[in-house]
Amino acid sequence: MQRKFYRIGLLGYPLTHSCSPQLHAAALRSLNLPGEYRLYPIAPGDQAGLVQLFTRLRAGELDGLNVTIPYKQAVIPWLDEISPIAQNIGAVNTIYARDGRLVGGNTDVPGFWADLGKYFPTHPGSLGAGNRAAEAQGKALVLGAGGAARAVVYALAMHGWHVTLAARRLDQAKKLVSTLTQVPGIFPPASALLEPGVLASCLDGTRLIVNATPLGMAPDVDRSPWPAGLPFLRMACCYDLVYNPRATLLLRQAGTAGLSTASGLGMLVEQAALSFEIWTGYSPIREAMWAAVEAI
Ligand code: NAP
Repeated sequence: MQRKFYRIGLLGYPLTHSCSPQLHAAALRSLNLPGEYRLYPIAPGDQAGLVQLFTRLRAGELDGLNVTIPYKQAVIPWLDEISPIAQNIGAVNTIYARDGRLVGGNTDVPGFWADLGKYFPTHPGSLGAGNRAAEAQGKALVLGAGGAARAVVYALAMHGWHVTLAARRLDQAKKLVSTLTQVPGIFPPASALLEPGVLASCLDGTRLIVNATPLGMAPDVDRSPWPAGLPFLRMACCYDLVYNPRATLLLRQAGTAGLSTASGLGMLVEQAALSFEIWTGYSPIREAMWAAVEAI
């Protein structure tokens, strides 16, 4: 019997720096599955390009697509169905067709959550585990209030973490907090200005710090979102969503102060692996995917 050839890819614009092709090629190789992961750079406003791509997906010519900037929100009106998580955070990063209908999901949320489990031993493994973590979890501080922060705060607050969302524009943090507070079952997050005096007053007892700003990302590797002069809390874990470089200035600062540290490479691998599982039904070997991007 002829083996299925998987056709998957990435919709976005521009797509020059994506490492998704290497991640998914490694996923296919790890399972010895034939297939390809192609880039579909479609310029904003190219409606015909989108129609053509979605027609191919609907018809089964493609098995699935990842979605990145600037389409994570913009694709929603094109879809027939979206998952509850994608609905709640208003962003889609994975699309597939089911019975000729286009379905959108979000694997950034469970990807972050699954990777976080490596650093917190009492962590419930899946998002479906519900809010039973409420008494086991603690306080988290998330820096930045953009798209990635939305996924991170949602994952944490749905599991009972007491999240403070700190942004340089307080109105941006407040807006995100107000949107997420409406999600049923969520532990309502708080907002704060990303400023040393304000953060010093809400740091006590914080077990997790997450950077969801791009500060420290190549080529600006000498920048850190951590305010100068603000001491770190030793017992905390510092998780940087930035994965290029792996050891960002923030992670080096936190490591020197005695915190445990986590690179965003883990979330990148997990969200890709979860999308791959949705499209193919197979669970790829994470270590093989990790090795593929580490080598870039
Ligand atoms: P985004 O939507 O543009 O949001 C960035 C946030 O950071 C905004 O709140 C922005 O505030 C803030 N920010 C930017 N420059 C700042 C500065 N100099 N000081 C303080 N705050 C600043 O970006 P995103 O999509 O959330 O991505 C954020 C980072 O996460 C990127 O580096 C991205 O590569 C990374 N990421 C990693 C993964 C992973 O799998 N590891 C997944 C998603 C994203 P303003 O609006 O005021 O600029």
